[in-house]
Amino acid sequence: MLSVEEARARILEHVAPLGTERVALDAAARRVLAADITSREPIPPFDNSAMDGYALRAEDISAASAESPVSLRLVGEVAAGAEQLPTLSEGEALRIFTGAPVPPSANTVIEQEAVSADDGQVTLVAPVRPGNHIRPKGEDITLGSVVLRRGSELGPAEIGVLATLGYAAVEVSRQPRVAILGTGDELVPPGEPLRPGQIRDSNAYYLAAAVRRAGGIPLALGIVGDDEPALRERLTQAADADLLLTSGGVSVGEHDLVKRVLSELGSIAFWRVRVRPGKPLAFGLLGSTPVLGLPGNPVSAAVTFELFGRPAICRMLGATSIERPLISARLTGATLHRTDRRQYLRCRLATAEGVLMAHPAGNQGSHITTSLVGASGLLIVYEGEGAVHDGDTVPVLLLNDGMPWGV
Ligand code: AMP
Ligand code: MG
Repeated sequence: MLSVEEARARILEHVAPLGTERVALDAAARRVLAADITSREPIPPFDNSAMDGYALRAEDISAASAESPVSLRLVGEVAAGAEQLPTLSEGEALRIFTGAPVPPSANTVIEQEAVSADDGQVTLVAPVRPGNHIRPKGEDITLGSVVLRRGSELGPAEIGVLATLGYAAVEVSRQPRVAILGTGDELVPPGEPLRPGQIRDSNAYYLAAAVRRAGGIPLALGIVGDDEPALRERLTQAADADLLLTSGGVSVGEHDLVKRVLSELGSIAFWRVRVRPGKPLAFGLLGSTPVLGLPGNPVSAAVTFELFGRPAICRMLGATSIERPLISARLTGATLHRTDRRQYLRCRLATAEGVLMAHPAGNQGSHITTSLVGASGLLIVYEGEGAVHDGDTVPVLLLNDGMPWGV
């Protein structure tokens, strides 16, 4: 039996970053950068005022005090967006507003609350250091610096920075098209009535949502019964996908045809992985398309997608980080026995007095789909002997963007 790491390494050997494409910035959220982003201009692009107030020459008011205030003549005004900048001479000040360029002849800004102004004059009762309330050119980003790295996922912060730098479009990796096929005579899509013995195909929908969340584009191939010719035909439709996910039919029963048909049409390795849930796993190539044969039980399909499918999608996207964040939490409400298989338990996360607590979500059976609902993490019980006890620190793979929380 393979370890999780061995199985993942073998899969990733066959998965490479896809090509790139250009997308408009307003369509770039959640995409992965295909090239480093270098600043083509300094940010801010010019010295500008951080306050509504007055621009002046610090040397003119160096002697100002409450006993001997200094008055400066107001000779103009600069607002945000101003192109023409007045020049200050000795003894003069300018009205200035937040974001307005600070003229080169001024070297400091004082906020309006700190002065008295009337009759074309502004009066100060204390000196102001040079550079006060000035946001200097290049303070945020210097010209020519690498601001974002290839392989980073574009979230609101990165997109804001790209806009700041003037990028209206950006080079990102192409999203993998991930074909999804359910197998089993018992499966019926949602929306159709169930006959005796039938169940609904939930994996196709779970996996489509998970693929989308991982950054891929799901292609629904529907359901195929436990019938070799039908399976063969449907699988050939998947040949132009970047990745094919099947679910079900990879166990040891006579009706488990996926591995047989795949080994005929392509090359397939069938592995037993030391993991619970999700022991049986098939992996192979159909033409050049990697194929991941996930188990049929919904929780097993979900966990194996997380462990093997998502990293493959992230690798295709050229993402720097293909792993979920691994955090530490305190086990609560359970004693967990180690076995020779690594266990991934769905858990809820919550804080209690500032400590992060992991609470395994009830029945961990691989058919209990509701154990996935509200599970913010997969609590890992490594292979071995003995047990992990209530109050012990445990590793947890963070599944969602932190949400939902609460036990
Ligand atoms: P199998 O691996 O085909 O033996 O399936 C294992 C279990 O998962 C069986 O109870 C199946 O009915 C169930 N199952 C298989 N595929 C799906 C699916 N797409 N949605 C929900 N349950 C499934
Ligand atoms: Mg089946």
